[in-house]
Amino acid sequence: MSFEEFINKIQYSFSKEDIELIHRAFDTAGKAHKGQKRFSGEDYIIHPICAALILASIFPDATTVAATLLHDVSEDTKYTLEDIRKEFGEKICMLVDGVTKLGTVRLRNSTDKSYMENLRKMFVATSKDIRVILIKLADRLHNMRTIEYVKPAKRKRIAQETLEIYAPIANRLGIGEWKDELEDRAFEVVEPAEYEKTVALLKERLPESQIRINDLQKSLVTILRTEGVKFKQVKGRVKRIYSLYKKLKKYDGDISKIYDLLALRVIVQSTPDCYSTLGAIHKHLQPIPGRVKDFIALPKPNGYRSIHTTVFSENRNVFEIQIRTEQMDDQAERGIAAHWFYNEQGKPDVTDGYTEAASRSELEELQWVQDLQDLQEQTRDSKEFFDQLKIDFFRDRIFVLTPKGDVKDLPEGATPIDFAFSVHTDLGFYMLGAKVNGKMVKIDHELKSGDVVEIIKTKKPVKISQDWLNYAKTTAAHHKIRKYLNENQSGIFNTLKNMIVRKK
Ligand code: MN
Repeated sequence: MSFEEFINKIQYSFSKEDIELIHRAFDTAGKAHKGQKRFSGEDYIIHPICAALILASIFPDATTVAATLLHDVSEDTKYTLEDIRKEFGEKICMLVDGVTKLGTVRLRNSTDKSYMENLRKMFVATSKDIRVILIKLADRLHNMRTIEYVKPAKRKRIAQETLEIYAPIANRLGIGEWKDELEDRAFEVVEPAEYEKTVALLKERLPESQIRINDLQKSLVTILRTEGVKFKQVKGRVKRIYSLYKKLKKYDGDISKIYDLLALRVIVQSTPDCYSTLGAIHKHLQPIPGRVKDFIALPKPNGYRSIHTTVFSENRNVFEIQIRTEQMDDQAERGIAAHWFYNEQGKPDVTDGYTEAASRSELEELQWVQDLQDLQEQTRDSKEFFDQLKIDFFRDRIFVLTPKGDVKDLPEGATPIDFAFSVHTDLGFYMLGAKVNGKMVKIDHELKSGDVVEIIKTKKPVKISQDWLNYAKTTAAHHKIRKYLNENQSGIFNTLKNMIVRKK
């Protein structure tokens, strides 16, 4: 592929200097990889080029595009990191170095230990510069697209890793498109039989659902026109394979219980339009109680915003409808990148006064990035790091509110203990009890999204029992409780020792 072909495939424009930089990286990578082949027999250079094109779908800056083109150079060719530093500067060198370090996961037939070490490096790199992880995700996505050429034994390990590590990270960063594709491709390799079964089930259902959703789409457009609601687009979407598989497991394989197999998405102009659209729909189509979700007022922790509702159609079929603005739709696909590369790309600012893209410093304060940094400081042992990581990072998140309305982002299954330690470092030690939505609950009560949680305090620190370790779900709470128990246990030991000494 020539440079002109490559740059023309990118859907947005760069400045002259940016293009010059990308061109240099393109040529350097081409020279460095010359003569190398992929498993597929293609020239190696096609891989960094495709990775860069995948990355381009989230509109990154020129530095990140250049680093993606160079991402395998220092590892696989004579060209060194030093050469990159000299020719492309510190930043690109740092990005390539970060990606290379993560890449060792792929190259080694890793035992548990080195795998965890690499995982650790990956997170250190991530918290330093989120672009390292974006490049790595694009790299992995291209590798998944071409995984059929990899040896079967290795294929499974890569797919497993993709499902367990990379897809959850893409999800956490809010990059929906990448998450979906990573999941579906990895699922097909990891559990081929289950994959086929799910695809078959979907295919069997689809034609009938398709007819029904076309009907609904028509009546929805009529409703919106009748009510005078301005909308840009009404589109249908089919549920992704892996997401369907997970939901089926929840409902004992009963596909009739899955209401969002096909969903309609209404794209409107502004945030107020989202609410008037919801009103118009509910006026004509009966909503199912308890199924209206306002992710605009309370966005998901990964930044996802939209209104979801589930309604009965005129023929008494059940459908999910998603309502959002173009900007929210864009963000659901590009996630963190929609914020991160915002200013640099000079994309038109389409905020409507109600919602504004989070600033970079706000993003740096993302709870999970902070959690990761804490985790790294607290754990020296790789095994413990990984165990904690699985508890915290790969769980789904919930958000609960303080009585003042501050939002706390916690892992699913979190209890008032976790809440207390997340509000204030020591609040947990003074916790007598907790109220959820005004009612007293036990301290091991499982919190749900949207709960208002109030901690009842005492003046003196309370006695904390070993059980608290089972009730707490977050790393932060675990760490504090363990420290407390260690200190207080040694206190008991000292008392016992003194008693024994005295007896003598
Ligand atoms: Mn690569």
